[in-house]
Amino acid sequence: MIRNLLVGAVGSLMALGASQTMAWSQPTHKWIVMDALAYMGSDRATPEEKRAYDFYVEAANGQAEVAADALGQACYDVDNFRDVHIGSWWAGGHWSAPVFGLAHSLVGYNAYHHFINMTRGEDVHGNAHGGYSYQNRTPNGSFGKGDVVDIDKLAAIYLWNQELSKRDFNTTEAHYRQGSYSDWNAHYRDFQNISWQPSANAGEYWLSEFYKQPSFQAIGYALHFLTDSAQPHHAYSTSANNHVGWENWVEDHYKRDQFADFTAVRAAVGKYNPRDSLNGLITQVAGVAYTHPEPLFAKDYETRKAAAQALIPEAIAATVAVLTKAVNCLNDECGL
Ligand SMILES: [Zn+2]
Repeated sequence: MIRNLLVGAVGSLMALGASQTMAWSQPTHKWIVMDALAYMGSDRATPEEKRAYDFYVEAANGQAEVAADALGQACYDVDNFRDVHIGSWWAGGHWSAPVFGLAHSLVGYNAYHHFINMTRGEDVHGNAHGGYSYQNRTPNGSFGKGDVVDIDKLAAIYLWNQELSKRDFNTTEAHYRQGSYSDWNAHYRDFQNISWQPSANAGEYWLSEFYKQPSFQAIGYALHFLTDSAQPHHAYSTSANNHVGWENWVEDHYKRDQFADFTAVRAAVGKYNPRDSLNGLITQVAGVAYTHPEPLFAKDYETRKAAAQALIPEAIAATVAVLTKAVNCLNDECGL
């Protein structure tokens, strides 16, 4: 019976094709960061944004394109992390993505750390908002409107009663705990009951790594968790509800429809205070994403375009704040 379920689930996962990923598509992540840096180098930037821009460009030997590419690429790379393995001894081991290779790029389990659930308050770990949780997901409402499978449910069937590997609990999860409380036995033994650490914690971890040893990688990684949080599906804890379709659509239209509109970015930048904590900034941009659930339930061009026109400038503005914050802090001007 279990074997049949597994085979059935894997078959359906593979049928979805290999081009599917979770979270803004990787190119979108990269463009958001590159556009944020370009904004900071433009004459719309404030003096402290300009100072931060100069810092990154100097770190790339004066080459702005190299700095933008390095930051953007690091932000892109996070979806390829293999630092979360789920499985069990009776299933023969732990994996970082659905087994049998073909479904590999579909759901890397590391992506479960890329959510911040704004539909609820405090989680079992004591975070103000939790991360992905199958139990607290937003149920799939897209059946019959384009989606042929419910990825949340499929993953849960496939991973039912499977655990987070203890090694990842003691490394990845420990890093992303950020002062909250976790117990492997109580919290990570059965996938369907797991409450993953929120993106806000993961972002804080990588920013702290940047302060220890500044690098394009560390800040770029932190920015991945920030930018994902501006994607409504990540604020609603769902990998279903047209999650992947919307992200692919945004990638296809990002340049064509000019979502990185600097006038809109300028209007949003003032809302994000570089003196706030990264956790606060991630929660803030997730709060904006939470006010735009439209992409979960509608797929028409006008609805998607309006949502992207609202959300992409917010993601870029929040990125400007974090890039500025990081340099302020290196100059002992954190403000916290
Ligand atoms: Zn992601």
